[in-house]
Amino acid sequence: MSQLFVVGTPIGNLQDLSPRAVQTLRTVDFIAAEDTRVTLKLLNHFEIKKPMVSYYEHNLHEKGEYILSRILSGETCAVVSDAGMPCISDPGEDLVRLCAAHGVTVTVVPGPSAAVSALAVSGLVTSRFTFEGFLSTNKASRMEHLSSLENERRTMIFYEAPHKLSATLGDLKSVFGADRPLSVCRELTKIHEEILRTTIGGACEYFEQNTPKGEFVLIVSGQEKQEAAQLPLEEVCQIGRKMILSGMRTTDVAKALAKTYGYKKAELYKSLL
Ligand code: SAM
Repeated sequence: MSQLFVVGTPIGNLQDLSPRAVQTLRTVDFIAAEDTRVTLKLLNHFEIKKPMVSYYEHNLHEKGEYILSRILSGETCAVVSDAGMPCISDPGEDLVRLCAAHGVTVTVVPGPSAAVSALAVSGLVTSRFTFEGFLSTNKASRMEHLSSLENERRTMIFYEAPHKLSATLGDLKSVFGADRPLSVCRELTKIHEEILRTTIGGACEYFEQNTPKGEFVLIVSGQEKQEAAQLPLEEVCQIGRKMILSGMRTTDVAKALAKTYGYKKAELYKSLL
């Protein structure tokens, strides 16, 4: 009673809907769906009959209040998106916040997400990553977003639509360079699943020859330590001296800078003295 379930649905392969998700969709009072036609296909496949409320980007506010009022009156609701985890570049985030603010129990029924699935098969570093979602369609905002990631060390995850892929690869190349490792993950869990483990330049060339089709996640390697180490020792020391002036111990400064810029701690320590 009075509960919201955030239910992950497949990103392609219907076999990926978990038994717990099926059970939840069967037992809730109603489903808040991003596109009721898309969700109806999923429900039909699993022979689930359930009333649905459409809940999407442009009716979030009005429908959110309506869904909340039904939940507060004692009903249970499952929120789903067209594919993958709700709330991740998909509706759900506001509803979770709204329900939580009104003391409603919000429970997750986890399912696949294109972002994490792509990261896992990218072959790139997975220990630290940042999710960037879709880049803006506005060129200036897109470049501002990418420029803010110029020195990002963590692996970066982007969503992209096929008709914008080539332009985005061009923008990635201008910010990160042609040699930066990149994995292009296409149509995951579907018949035409394809993972291209290449560089940004390699992907640009590939998609000049092959028209992008389907759904894509781009996994871009973070900046390598060696690239950061290209900062000359004297410049690193200038940064270090400011840190020392701010009250840090020379040994701690040398340790921190060695980690960031790839120099030996002893070498930095000696130069800083
Ligand atoms: N919330 C979803 C999730 O967690 O996976 C993502 C929704 S977002 C609106 C849709 C984007 O996810 C697509 O444009 C594409 O970038 C990516 N995507 C979804 N399904 C995919 C798939 N099967 N293969 C590759 N990318 C996919």
